[in-house]
Amino acid sequence: VEFTDRQIPCSECHKLFTFTAGEQRWYNERGFEHPPRRCGDCRKARKERDGREGGGGGRGRDRDRQRPKHRITCARCGVEAEVPFEPRSGSPVYCASCFQANRQRG
Ligand SMILES: [Zn+2]
Ligand SMILES: [Zn+2]
Repeated sequence: VEFTDRQIPCSECHKLFTFTAGEQRWYNERGFEHPPRRCGDCRKARKERDGREGGGGGRGRDRDRQRPKHRITCARCGVEAEVPFEPRSGSPVYCASCFQANRQRG
């Protein structure tokens, strides 16, 4: 499947934002049928608002699922993993267990 950048009107501020080919692939890989309805700014604002209001409660798992994950290949053991941060190009990224091991060694 080929993806091309798409312009989508934000359902909150009604500005057009770009749903990039890369994002579309990401969505597709995860089986999401619907494109995002809000622009990045509104999504961020909403997330911050949710974080502030939604204190307490045992919904940690739900929040985890919403955090964007980035696919990486561990520079140490070569396993494919997902990390909650955006890997910087040029610097090695590790899976969770290698990251821990590295840290403990100093
Ligand atoms: Zn918006
Ligand atoms: Zn590893």
